Amino acid sequence: MRLPDCYLAKLGPTPLVTVRLSPTAPEIWCKLEFLNPSGSTKDRIARYILEKALRAGRLRPNGLVAEASSGSTSIAMALACAQLGLRFAAVMPESVSNERVLMIRALGGEIRLTPRELGMRGAIEETQRMATADPSVFLPRQFANPDNAWAHRTGTAREIIDQIPGGSVDAVVSGVGTGGTLVGLYEGLREAGCPVCPVVARPVALNAAPDIECCSFSSRVPGVVDCMSEIFRPEDLPGLCVEEVPDHEALAAARALIARGFPVGPSSGLNFRAAEQWALGRPGAHVVTVFPDRMERYFSTELFSEVKER
Ligand code: PMP
Repeated sequence: MRLPDCYLAKLGPTPLVTVRLSPTAPEIWCKLEFLNPSGSTKDRIARYILEKALRAGRLRPNGLVAEASSGSTSIAMALACAQLGLRFAAVMPESVSNERVLMIRALGGEIRLTPRELGMRGAIEETQRMATADPSVFLPRQFANPDNAWAHRTGTAREIIDQIPGGSVDAVVSGVGTGGTLVGLYEGLREAGCPVCPVVARPVALNAAPDIECCSFSSRVPGVVDCMSEIFRPEDLPGLCVEEVPDHEALAAARALIARGFPVGPSSGLNFRAAEQWALGRPGAHVVTVFPDRMERYFSTELFSEVKER
């Protein structure tokens, strides 16, 4: 079928720029994904997954798309659905922040809230119930759908190859939420012949109450979660490295990037600090990371606590 005219298909590549925060620190190549139209890298997966479903006839014009996400993916899906002539329902636990709900509604999306105590699991089960009740409902399922990684493999990775001097990358560094970014970039860069090392940026919660935070991932760095991904399989990533970053350092790096004119969220600070750690002692290495989303999503969080006190 002929796809609806969609400006997302006409955007140029996001910039890839070098950033060095101090004269002695390593230089990192940063992909400015916060410049995508809805403010995050998730615009890429939204468009890729929905256009593929439309082409395959899995989605019809004005069809309903339902995604369990309280984060960037729902906002990106709402925007892409608005462009592609589709309906969108974001299913999320009651605890979600109001700014996100308003953005999705303004983009024409419907919000379905699930009980707070059931968490994301409850939201995922609700989308499954919707699809069982009406098989025409399309579920992008970002945590399980390999097309999430393909969007980065065929899009983001190829842009990086065209943008980086010499067309070669030594390491790609990213936090893992769905795993789509890291897996897709690694596969795309390998495919282009780069001797690339995949590096997980892992936030370590330092001052969390032990009974609340049972793993070393940190609620202070949203978007990067443990054990949710069915796309990220360490056995498929030879030479995988992990850089652990204390969460207060991730936040400090995000604030330093903002002060330099990069309006990013906490996970960009995490990615940047992890990339610096990997690059230390490897002079001349081409280290690439991504700045996934924008600072405006985090006004009500700790990222802005120091600014509010000024
Ligand atoms: N940072 C932010 C802000 C995110 O929303 C996400 C995705 N949830 C990530 C990092 C991780 O990216 P991915 O899902 O591709 O692993």
